[in-house]
Amino acid sequence: MITSKNPYTGEVVEEFKEYTKEEVNAAIERADNRFKTWRKVSYDEKRDLMLNAAKELRENQRAYAEDITTEMGKPISQAMAEIEKCAWVCEYYAENAKDHLANETIETDAQKSYVSYEPIGVVLAIMPWNYPFWQAFRYAVPALMAGNIGLLKHASNVMRSANNIQKVFENAGFPKDCFQNLVISSSKIDDILKDDRVKAVTLTGSKPAGSAVASTAGSKIKKSVLELGGSNALVVFKDANIQKTVETCVQARYQNTGQSCIAGKRLLLHESIEDQFMEEFVKQVKDLKSGDPMDEDTYIGTLAREDLAEDLEAQVKDSVEKGAKIVLGGKRNKAYYEPTILTNVTKGMRVFDEETFGPAISVTTFKENQEAIDLVNYSDFGLGVSIFTEDFDFAEGIISEFEDGAVFVNELVKSDPRLPFGGTKISGYGRELSSHGIQEFVNRKTVYFN
Ligand code: NAP
Repeated sequence: MITSKNPYTGEVVEEFKEYTKEEVNAAIERADNRFKTWRKVSYDEKRDLMLNAAKELRENQRAYAEDITTEMGKPISQAMAEIEKCAWVCEYYAENAKDHLANETIETDAQKSYVSYEPIGVVLAIMPWNYPFWQAFRYAVPALMAGNIGLLKHASNVMRSANNIQKVFENAGFPKDCFQNLVISSSKIDDILKDDRVKAVTLTGSKPAGSAVASTAGSKIKKSVLELGGSNALVVFKDANIQKTVETCVQARYQNTGQSCIAGKRLLLHESIEDQFMEEFVKQVKDLKSGDPMDEDTYIGTLAREDLAEDLEAQVKDSVEKGAKIVLGGKRNKAYYEPTILTNVTKGMRVFDEETFGPAISVTTFKENQEAIDLVNYSDFGLGVSIFTEDFDFAEGIISEFEDGAVFVNELVKSDPRLPFGGTKISGYGRELSSHGIQEFVNRKTVYFN
């Protein structure tokens, strides 16, 4: 059985019977058969279906959001926003996929030569629980618009949401089996990946999961895209607008109760603005409202599972033993972890070296700008970095110094259907969203007429 448990109440939400080997095989067979017809469906028809999916999401926004909140503790207002964002990505690719995948003429010696972008077949997605809808939609929508078929293996604690996602596409009128959720645990993934009918895999999750999946995919010469963890820095230079920057940094760290790969986890402050910044920052974090995730005004819910809160507690404890100072929070109650601020943080402490997946921020100061850049790049992760300065020439000048997949100036790192999203180093490889994302799982076919 796969169990969904409400992390706020501790109650079991629902139990799901795991698919047998035969049921998994049948699902793959149906997916493979569906590809034979789906690959020929016109962009205009796919566009209409995808716009229906956006409509379905908006019409049932509350119900889908409540299931997210019940299963993983996300405050309801943020779950509602997640569903809205999924509708946006449906509309974005409905309107743009045809252009993203149009034949690309290239002048050569030939009478005519071009690249055509063709679907590859069944693409498996292994997804995490932190944005149960959004993570799956940002893969599924471009995959379907490209003419591929989706098979989802979602995180075990959000299986109701996973079933809901399949329902969205069914209710939107997509042909049966264009998108199926597999009710399975991760032990079944290896066999699925080795199956010849499954052509590629995308995984959003942790490094161990990414490494295991990419190894198996590599052994079968199958394409993989990995969106893994992050430990983004928020770098505040001495000329930053403090008031605006504090507000952005609070949101960057504490939204989704800190459980975001692109959250700003390491705050790097120029020493000259430390006192002023911290006074305002502590005040704003104190004001964040914790409570029942179903309440409209709750900003901090519980973590998605109690063991995740325990992990964060251990990282904080270890860092305090090495000299970090808790200036706010630091206590756990079951799956709830208080919004926490740690100062005096240095390299070598777990809250600086590792990803912290919850509402705790590490604060480190720097004297020289180069020191800040080095601290950003010290991380093994490379998803993104936010820098705060009023001097755009200075910002432009240092962008190439950062090893990350994204640099946001005076803004938190965020995903947007129009922009590519993805990391470097152990944050993974490949890109999602925009034209870059939809072109990951296609055959870029070279065509040449002599
Ligand atoms: P996780 O434990 O790696 O789980 C992610 C998915 O992988 C789940 O479906 C999980 O299934 C499956 N899985 C786990 N171990 C596996 C294995 N050995 N082989 C195959 N599949 C395996 O990660 P999580 O705790 O759910 O999510 C948090 C992590 O995801 C964080 O590191 C976060 O930064 C990262 N993340 C990255 C992005 C991004 O875009 N870069 C976005 C969101 C989250 P089970 O649930 O059944 O174990």
